[in-house]
Amino acid sequence: MAATRGALVDAVGALPEAVNPLALSLNECPFAPLPAVRSAMAASFDVVNRYPEFLPERLRSLIAAHVGLSDDQVVIGIGATGVIMQVLHAVTSPGDTMVMSAPTFDGYPIFAHMARLRPVTVPLDVHGHHDLDAMADAAADARVVVVCRPHNPTGTVEPAADVERFLARVPADTVVVLDEAYVEFLSPDHRIDAAGLVARFGNLVVVRTFSKAYGLAGLRIGYGFCAPELARTLWAMQLPFGIPVSGLVAVAASYDAESQLRQRIRVIAAERRYLRMRLRALGVYSTDGHANFVYLPEAARGWRDVFDRAGLQVRHYADGGVRITVGGRPSTRAVLRAVIAATD
Ligand SMILES: *Cc1c(COP(=O)(O)O)cnc(C)c1O
Repeated sequence: MAATRGALVDAVGALPEAVNPLALSLNECPFAPLPAVRSAMAASFDVVNRYPEFLPERLRSLIAAHVGLSDDQVVIGIGATGVIMQVLHAVTSPGDTMVMSAPTFDGYPIFAHMARLRPVTVPLDVHGHHDLDAMADAAADARVVVVCRPHNPTGTVEPAADVERFLARVPADTVVVLDEAYVEFLSPDHRIDAAGLVARFGNLVVVRTFSKAYGLAGLRIGYGFCAPELARTLWAMQLPFGIPVSGLVAVAASYDAESQLRQRIRVIAAERRYLRMRLRALGVYSTDGHANFVYLPEAARGWRDVFDRAGLQVRHYADGGVRITVGGRPSTRAVLRAVIAATD
């Protein structure tokens, strides 16, 4: 018994780490789960002796109705990570090529490796945008190409017209993954009609997650949507009993609390604008970001030392850039203090 209790103490002892306000490397939501989400999840614990649905049909219907799609267009994954792996398992064979930008989300090269694909990278332009023409050229010899909008780590947003031109150029037998992990942070004028695009392009899969704006990273729920024919292929890779019942109720409660979530998103977006403005006043350039992080590309400033010295966990990139999650005002102050200390 003592050993069991020790394990529990160890496990719970690890929890405060997750809410360390200076942990700014994973683009997590700084807010605790909404009360309605917590109580819905707590209620779901009463049935954890039972399996969830064999395939997550109820969650699929819930999401489809919310986004404005038909059920047969949606697939559910263990995070956006799970959805992308599902796409790769369904449509690629080992040795196929997967095109991505560089730098980009750290997950893509890992997923490519797991699916035994050959990653081909296309550098971003100097403003942190995808080179969509070069990516479309590379896609001609690829099975999959992934575009992230807003992009991680730069936060930049490709204009809708450029995305459409790109989709029109990519061969119909190459699957395009449009990763919208941060779509909820976009202002209406930067939104793209993703449902309209999947109706026109049968090779397009749009991927989203509850990990970022919805603040449910620990639950691991994501979804993808596409044309019904491709969705059938992806749904065939849906892991049996793969989505816990807590995920279903947390999503339902989150949709019910949509106005509170929108308010949180507005707070984070305002905090991002404030942080960028203060950084600019200090002479520090950040890319035109539209998500819950800022990206500082100026490698010559030695960002690793700057933030290590301040004890801030941020995400460093091979080219010397650094991505910093936008949290609450305390973390903004900590970031600014670190930058000021380095420029003094
Ligand atoms: C965080 C992130 C993901 C993965 O999200 P999960 O749903 O937690 O697996 C996917 N793509 C991008 C661009 C991300 O930043």
